[in-house]
Amino acid sequence: MSKPTIPVIDVRQRPTVMTPELRAIIASLDLEGPVLDQLSRPLRDLRISVTDRCNFRCSYCMPKSVFTRDHTYLPQSDLLSFEEITTIAEAATRLGVKKIRITGGEPLLRKNLEILIAQLSALRTTDGKPLDLTLTTNASLLKRKAQLLKDAGLSRLTVSLDALDDGIFRKMNDMDFPVVDVLEGIDTALAVGFKDIKVNMVVKRGTNVDQIVPMARHFRGTGVALRFIEYMDVGASNGWRMDEVLPSADVLAMLQAQWPMVSLPAKSKGETAKRYGYLDASGAVDASLGEVGFISSVTEAFCHECNRARLSTDGRLFACLFATQGTDIKHLLRGEEPVNADFVARYLAHTWMQRSDQYSALRQAGVIPAGNASARIEMSYIGG
Ligand code: SAM
Ligand code: SF4
Ligand code: SF4
Repeated sequence: MSKPTIPVIDVRQRPTVMTPELRAIIASLDLEGPVLDQLSRPLRDLRISVTDRCNFRCSYCMPKSVFTRDHTYLPQSDLLSFEEITTIAEAATRLGVKKIRITGGEPLLRKNLEILIAQLSALRTTDGKPLDLTLTTNASLLKRKAQLLKDAGLSRLTVSLDALDDGIFRKMNDMDFPVVDVLEGIDTALAVGFKDIKVNMVVKRGTNVDQIVPMARHFRGTGVALRFIEYMDVGASNGWRMDEVLPSADVLAMLQAQWPMVSLPAKSKGETAKRYGYLDASGAVDASLGEVGFISSVTEAFCHECNRARLSTDGRLFACLFATQGTDIKHLLRGEEPVNADFVARYLAHTWMQRSDQYSALRQAGVIPAGNASARIEMSYIGG
C-alpha cells in the first residue's frame, strides 16, 4: 500500500480558519480510492461522545477530587446537536466507517438520545449495509431506557461493571450506586432483545482483582461476553501508576486456573479485544459457555491496526485516545459558509490522512514515558 501524500495544512488547532487555500485543498481531495493515514490505516470506527457529564465518579476516569460539585461542564450551546452529529457520521461513512459507538460521559444522560440513535441507524455503509451501531453505558439508566434504545435501532450494547461485590462496586463508582441496578439493567436489555451484550471490567491492582473470577463465573454461559480492560493512563487526572496495572496475561492465568480456555481467532481487523473461549470435557470450544476478551492497551499495544477516531462532545475529531489536540468540525458546520456532507467527508479525509498517532505502541517501546500528561484530553470528554 502506498503511503498517502502529506497534506500541507495542519488543522489541529483552535479554531480552524477556513482559508481559500485550505478550501481548495479539501475540494480537490480524491475520495474514490482508500483514505489511509500516514501508517496506512483506514478509518472504520467512529466513537461519538454525546455528553461530558456523568452520574458516576469512577476513580480511573472522573475522580471526585477533580470532578467536584463545582466542575464546569460544556454549555448546552457548545454540544453538537443531533443533526450535526448525524451529518458528521454520514460523512464518516463515506470514508468507510462501519461501526459507530455512542459514548461519553454517560451517554444515557443525554436527553432524547433515542432520537439520535434513530437518525444514525438510518445511515448506510459504503456497501449499503446498516452500521454496527453500539453504545457504552454505566447502565444506571438502562432499565428505563433499554426498550427505547432497541426500538430506535441500536444494534448492540456494552455495559461497564467493575465488580460484583456491592461494597467494592459502590466504592469504585464513588456515588454509592448499587450493583443490583446494573445487573437489572443488563437483564432488561436481554429481555427486550439485545444480543451480543458485552460487559467491560477495568482491572485495577489493589482494588478489584479479587472480582475477576467471580465476574467470569457470573457471566459464563449467559451469552454476555466479559472483557477485561487494563487500567490506562488516559487524561490528566486519574493519577495513573504502572504498579496499579494488572497485565491481561495475569488475568488470563487466573481464569485458566479455574477453567481450560483457548484463544479464539479475531472476527475483524482492528479488533481491540483478544478473545478466549471455554473448553468442554473433550477439549473442544464450548460456544454455549460464551467467551471473554482482553483489552491490553498497556502491555500489548494494538496501534498498528487502530482504525478509530473519536468525536468529542463539542465537535472535535481526535485521531487518538491520547491526543492533545483535535480538529474542530463544529466550527466548520457553524461557519458562515454552509458546508454539505460531501465537504465534511473531504475535511475528515484531510484530517485522517495527516494522522500518525501510535501512543500506546511508543509508550510500550519506551520511546515516550508512561503516565498522565497535563495537556491530555479526559476520557469523559473524548469518549471511551
Ligand atoms: N460512562 C460510560 C461507561 O462507563 O460505560 C461510557 C463512557 S466510559 C469513559 C467508556 C469506557 O471507558 C468504560 O468502559 C470505562 O470503564 C472505560 N475507562 C474509563 N477510564 C479508563 C481508564 N483509565 N482505563 C481503562 N478504561 C477506562
Ligand atoms: Fe462515568 Fe463511565 Fe467515566 Fe465511570 S467510566 S466516571 S461511568 S464516564
Ligand atoms: Fe489507537 Fe491511539 Fe489507542 Fe494506539 S494509543 S490504539 S493509535 S487510540
